[in-house]
Amino acid sequence: MAFKVAEYKTDLHIDWCPGCGDFGITSALQQALAELEVEPHNVALFSGIGCSGKFPHYINAYGIHTLHGRPLPFAIGCKLANPYLTVIAIGGDGDGLGIGVGHFVNAGRRNVDITYIVANNGVYGLTKGQASPTLRLGMKTKSLPKPNINEGINPLLLAFASGYTFIARTYSYDVRHQVETFKKGILHRGLAYIDVLQGCPTYNDLWTKDWYMGRDHIDPETGKPQTRLYRLEDTGYDPVIPPEGLSQAEYEGRVAQFVQKALEWGDRIPIGVFWKDESVSTYEDRIRATAPTYLDWPPALRPICDAEGWPLTDIRKFLDELRVTG
Ligand code: SF4
Repeated sequence: MAFKVAEYKTDLHIDWCPGCGDFGITSALQQALAELEVEPHNVALFSGIGCSGKFPHYINAYGIHTLHGRPLPFAIGCKLANPYLTVIAIGGDGDGLGIGVGHFVNAGRRNVDITYIVANNGVYGLTKGQASPTLRLGMKTKSLPKPNINEGINPLLLAFASGYTFIARTYSYDVRHQVETFKKGILHRGLAYIDVLQGCPTYNDLWTKDWYMGRDHIDPETGKPQTRLYRLEDTGYDPVIPPEGLSQAEYEGRVAQFVQKALEWGDRIPIGVFWKDESVSTYEDRIRATAPTYLDWPPALRPICDAEGWPLTDIRKFLDELRVTG
C-alpha cells in the first residue's frame, strides 16, 4: 500500500519562526513515515517542552506533548505496552540533555526498540535563547550577554556511553539526508539516537546555514566555499557491529573510529550513521525471556471486558489483602 506524505500532515497553523530548522525535520519525518508505509494510526510520537515540543501537533499520528525532559519514559512505556507501534520520541537538546539527561542515559541501558530524535541547536529557543547543554565553551550567540562558560555535552559520545545501539547525525536543512537517516533509525531493532543539527536563526547566529555550508570558509585554492558537512556514507565508513559480534580487536577498532568521528567538529563535520550495533538484545527480548507470551498479549492489547462490557479483571482478592481488620 502506498502512502502519501499528505496523510501525515495536520491542518494546524505552524508557529515556528521563519527559517527554523524544525520545518525541515517535520517534513523529513513525514516523508520517512510515508516511505516506510507505516500507517499513521500505528505511529506514536512523544515530545517534551520547548519549540520542539510542537512536533506531534504537526504530524498526523498519535502524539503526546509531555513534560519537560520526559519524552523518553512516555515513549518507552508506550512501546512496552504495545510493541507493535512505531514509537518516536522527539525533542530538543535543552529538553533531552538538560533536565531529561537522566532519562537519556538510563534509556540506553534498556535498548527498547524506539527512535529518539533530538533537534540540537545549542540554545533554549522557547525561552529566548539561553545556552543549552550542547553549546560549546566560549560561544556567544546573539542571545547571550557573555560567552558561555560551560563546556558543551557531546550527545553522540553520551549516547554511546549510555548504550544506544544506533547513533546518527543529520542536518535540518538537508531533508533527503534526514529522510534516509530517520528511516534507518526507525528500522533499527533497538534504541536509536538521531542528533539533528538544527538551525535556530532567531537565537543562534553562530551555527547558521551559511556556517554549516561553509560560506564563510573559502578554500584558498579554489576560491569556493568549503562545506563543513560531509557524509560518512561517502567515505567507506562502516558503523555496523553484526548480530554475531566481532573479535575484540575488530570491536575496539570500530569504537576507535566512532570516537574519532564523534569528536570531529569545526572545519569538517561528519553526518550519517556513526554506530549500529546489532549484537545487543532489546528490552523486549529480555521481557520475552521471562514472559514468553509477552508479544501475544502485550498489556495494551489485552481484553479488559467481556462482550457485555463486564470487566475481566477481578481485584477483590487484592483488595482483601489490603483490608485492615481488628
Ligand atoms: Fe525555531 Fe529557534 Fe524560533 Fe524556536 S526560537 S521556533 S528553535 S527559530
